Amino acid sequence: MESSNNSGKTYWGIDVGGTCAKIGCLTNDVFRVVDTISTGVDCEPKELLAKISELILAEDVKPAAVGLGTAGHIDKRAGGVVRFSPNLPLWNGINAGEILRRHLKVPVIVDNDCNVFAIGAINSGRIPSEGLWLFITLGTGIGGTIINQGSIIYGTGYSGEFGHTTVREGGVPCPCGSDGCWERYAGKKALEWYYTRLTGQKASPGEIAALASQGKVSALETFREYGRWVGLGLANLSNCFSPMGFFIGGGLSTTINHFEKSAMLEYKKRCKHKWNVSLLENSPTAGAFGAASMVAKQC
Ligand SMILES: [Zn+2]
Repeated sequence: MESSNNSGKTYWGIDVGGTCAKIGCLTNDVFRVVDTISTGVDCEPKELLAKISELILAEDVKPAAVGLGTAGHIDKRAGGVVRFSPNLPLWNGINAGEILRRHLKVPVIVDNDCNVFAIGAINSGRIPSEGLWLFITLGTGIGGTIINQGSIIYGTGYSGEFGHTTVREGGVPCPCGSDGCWERYAGKKALEWYYTRLTGQKASPGEIAALASQGKVSALETFREYGRWVGLGLANLSNCFSPMGFFIGGGLSTTINHFEKSAMLEYKKRCKHKWNVSLLENSPTAGAFGAASMVAKQC
């Protein structure tokens, strides 16, 4: 975290995910997690945000600002409206920023969870603030953030939805309404499907990774197939952006040692750019930290 003139002020960060919300605060560059609240598909946004606001005010009589990160399309220009939330359907159309501002009477910034994670990594120096870099999260879906000179490129607001670029016309249907989206081929379900198709058995990514570590041929082939799709998508992005390199995060990123080689071979087949892919380590609280760090820098 860069030193700033925010001495003594407390910035709050909220990370609302499909299973839980994490709330933490950043004071004098020290971050601590204050609470975790369960969410889920039936999570009612107004109730949850009221509860979080109460919690913040009980801990802090004078919060400086509040940042919120959540999955989906976030309309920042409208003050933090959740336009489309795949895992929290009741949040669609909710102005989360306005609700928090009403309760807390402080500046609030809402952003997409992948962007918030990247902002935390930029502010803590883990993503360089010079040059153009792409941050990709590989998990249930694929998130993306475009970082140029330490700032995120938003376009009209929603840049970086790399997971929904088409890699196979007429391919696997996607909940977004399209088909053949990259995340249908390089997301968690795809990895599991490649294993099932080969073995007739079900296994989680962690189990497949453990089998690959033991040298099980079917698990190794699963990761080779998975890696090909990761490499294909990264080659498309390199051809579009010519980035300095990629940072990879998300649940599947920790299995990169099993798929990096096949991803790189596929990538080199499809683009002329250098392979420069680094793992950006996840921590369960990185989202809440990123949200707090975002408002510490911008408010
Ligand atoms: Zn899609």
